Amino acid sequence: MTDRPLRVAIVGAGMSGLYMAEMLQRRPDVAFTVYEKAGEIGGTWRDNTYPGLFVDVLSRQYEFLFQPNYDWSRKYAPQAEIFAYMKKVARERGWLKHIRFNTEIVAARFDAAAGQWQLKTAAGETDTVDFFVVATGFLAKPLYPEIEGRESFAGKAFHSARWDHSIPYDGKLRWGVIGAGCSGIQITEALAWKDVQVTQFVRRPQWIHIRENPGATWWERMKLRLPGQYEKKQRELWDFIIEGDAWRLKPGPQREAMEREFRSYLDVIRDPELKKKLTPSYHLGCTRIPKSDQNYYEAVQRPNVTIETRKIARIVPEGVEFEDGARLPLDVLVYATGFDTHAYMRPMRVTGLNGVSIDEVWRDGVFSYGGVGVPGFPNLFLLYGPFAPLNNVPVPIGLEHEIGYILRLMDEAKRRGAAVAPSEAATERFRARMRDAFPGTVWVGCKNWYSDRDGTPILWPLPQDQHADFFAATRFEDLDFLPISSP
Ligand SMILES: Cc1cc2nc3c(=O)[nH]c(=O)nc-3n(C[C@H](O)[C@H](O)[C@H](O)COP(=O)(O)OP(=O)(O)OC[C@H]3O[C@@H](n4cnc5c(N)ncnc54)[C@H](O)[C@@H]3O)c2cc1C
Repeated sequence: MTDRPLRVAIVGAGMSGLYMAEMLQRRPDVAFTVYEKAGEIGGTWRDNTYPGLFVDVLSRQYEFLFQPNYDWSRKYAPQAEIFAYMKKVARERGWLKHIRFNTEIVAARFDAAAGQWQLKTAAGETDTVDFFVVATGFLAKPLYPEIEGRESFAGKAFHSARWDHSIPYDGKLRWGVIGAGCSGIQITEALAWKDVQVTQFVRRPQWIHIRENPGATWWERMKLRLPGQYEKKQRELWDFIIEGDAWRLKPGPQREAMEREFRSYLDVIRDPELKKKLTPSYHLGCTRIPKSDQNYYEAVQRPNVTIETRKIARIVPEGVEFEDGARLPLDVLVYATGFDTHAYMRPMRVTGLNGVSIDEVWRDGVFSYGGVGVPGFPNLFLLYGPFAPLNNVPVPIGLEHEIGYILRLMDEAKRRGAAVAPSEAATERFRARMRDAFPGTVWVGCKNWYSDRDGTPILWPLPQDQHADFFAATRFEDLDFLPISSP
């Protein structure tokens, strides 16, 4: 391995895999392939095309840091614009020639003697690489509710990440939206303003950020192009992220003020019964906060919208049936029921040292070292794995930190003619550090997908600058280097 180009496979051509592709493309000593099971890049932004989807952080926080976009149309860009930006960058930067589309990796096995990963595609092809980078996403595998009779529904039914654009919004059809998370809120709001007859099924009301989403003016776009302006704006954003998000980490007046503000959004609801139905019973921030650009609370008061808090007992051909036997007829049913957030790269079969699989290692819950590595799986790197900073660092910034670190590890492994993995002890120390940081954060105290089975959240619970610091240092004492017998 020391004097030949490194072979790297990246699985997934979403934001994470593409970011990695750019960094590897800059390295003359690396040959890489991106495997993508779909026929197009984009991941999340390719699969989620539902009406009302806008990015929830500022548009400028959601771009490849090496490719500024001065021309976002709005403060928070719509999905189509993000997807178009990603496709443009991929084309212009020459990533497409490295991507094998319509190629799913179904299995990966580490060969300890060779220090290499052997990959298998769904079509039965194989590849052998030195490093295996898993960029398969954490909000990628649609989760459907376990409601009896789901298959019996006679109308159109689909998950929010598989939107059926053939259905007209002509007000003649009766729509049902199951779920009140980020997607359910945005979909209901969008359908409501389109005059569609819609019932949203809400089991647990969410805190919702009612925000303004103004268009970018000509002058704002021009200003970003002036020397030093873009960098200045990005620095201000970073300071804002650090300061503005501190309320998530510890109780205090900032958190109380935030909750008061969010509670005040509900004041536009005139019917006290509806207001009660939509008032959350847990603290702000414990779940991912849905963003509303067209005032969800106004939208749901339109005559074409119903909020239904009764539990659906079963789905029947003509609609849904409640526990008391009452039925609600529907023509279209949208499952805005989220994703299997703890699946990560699975169902891919990943086998590390001594034939141990990732399923076995994660049997009692997913974990990692820093969100990027798992002990016993040398030369395997995760992008946005468990403990990655889901909630309080914009994804591109988190990727910049992770990828810089991963590249250093690859270099060091190559230099030593070894394969590298975090040690068990270091991973345990890391998990303890994460666990110790949780008390007092907003993520404790309610059921959320940020938590593992024993209730320990699996996101970054520390200030963002500590994330940068963590990845800036290599900490060789945390790593096991396994000599490769036939490098
Ligand atoms: C509706 C929605 C809205 C969101 N909004 C925001 C937001 O506003 N801000 C934010 O920061 N984050 C948001 N997110 C989170 C978003 O997922 C991340 O920001 C980011 O897009 C994740 O990129 P990724 O590349 O890690 O994963 P993904 O975008 O999920 O891409 C993973 C890719 O891997 C491919 N793949 C998976 N398994 C295999 C396999 N075995 N073989 C080959 N290919 C495979 C998939 O087809 C996919 O293309 C949102 C998520 C959703 C679902």
